[in-house]
Amino acid sequence: MTQGKTGRIAVVGSNMVDLVTYTNRMPAPGETLEAPSFEMGCGGKGANQAVAAALLGSTVGMVTKVGDDMFADNTIRNFRDHGVDTTHVVKVAGMTSGVAPIFVEPSGENSILIVKGANATLSPADVDAAEDMLSQADLILMQLEIPLETVRHTVRRAAQWGVRTILNPAPASPDLRVEDLRDLSFLVPNESELALLSGMPTDSEDQITSAARSLIAKGIGNVIVTLGGRGARWITAERLVPVPALTVSPVDTTGAGDAFIGAFAHFLAATGETETALNKAARYAALSVTRRGTQKSYATAEEFDSFCA
Ligand code: ADP
Repeated sequence: MTQGKTGRIAVVGSNMVDLVTYTNRMPAPGETLEAPSFEMGCGGKGANQAVAAALLGSTVGMVTKVGDDMFADNTIRNFRDHGVDTTHVVKVAGMTSGVAPIFVEPSGENSILIVKGANATLSPADVDAAEDMLSQADLILMQLEIPLETVRHTVRRAAQWGVRTILNPAPASPDLRVEDLRDLSFLVPNESELALLSGMPTDSEDQITSAARSLIAKGIGNVIVTLGGRGARWITAERLVPVPALTVSPVDTTGAGDAFIGAFAHFLAATGETETALNKAARYAALSVTRRGTQKSYATAEEFDSFCA
């Protein structure tokens, strides 16, 4: 069963509003073009991971910043609709919310712009202001759509509070130094993020293991590498645990990584067992790739239970 003990998850991360325009082709510079349709959706890696964990039944709180525009209200409403605690969602006067204008061509090719807006101002002081919630969490989740100094600060404070941390180092940042993350419990990169962080190739299984172990040698406890349709690998100093992917017919893989991490956090907090949590997260992410959309593709606990039955 998916339900049972529910954990407390806190996300220190981003929120974005996806502004998706479906176009027959991209306009040339200076050209105005009519496009057939438009869709708006809630996204941002932090928000996606929070929503996945909440749908599965975790108690989830979000530490994030929005602007003072209509996108902010939409984002806050979306968190509340999913039962995510918004006590520490702060509105910033005079700033825009994070938005992602996305252009989808008939071939399925995406062109994406990310405007971080208020996300870029999430600071160590905001983390300290949320200490009451963060210090009581079973797990704190982070990604890299917020300033690096805020991520580093959260990792340090969480260690003082005795709270385990998960960092998804996405989007990849050349400025992230593993040496600054000594207290981190779980680092969850994909292959290309692992290559950038380690400065090593990740083209074969052996290379992936060596690259992950080079990060472990610098103080990270656990590295979980996600490999799309090839599943994931849990690598520690002593162990290499393969996490198989479920074979599905993919419809839309956007947001699979966020589904995987949100579900991993949920099941880790609920069961305390890393390997069990990873296998369930792989199933949850596989289900999400069989459905269209990002957050819209994430299953509830009941839907996930019937998928696994
Ligand atoms: P990211 O989007 O961050 O690069 P991945 O593509 O590695 O993340 O996907 C995360 C996880 O989602 C994988 O480890 C796997 O378990 C699952 N997944 C992704 N794509 C597929 C797929 N085509 N079939 C089955 N599972 C998938």
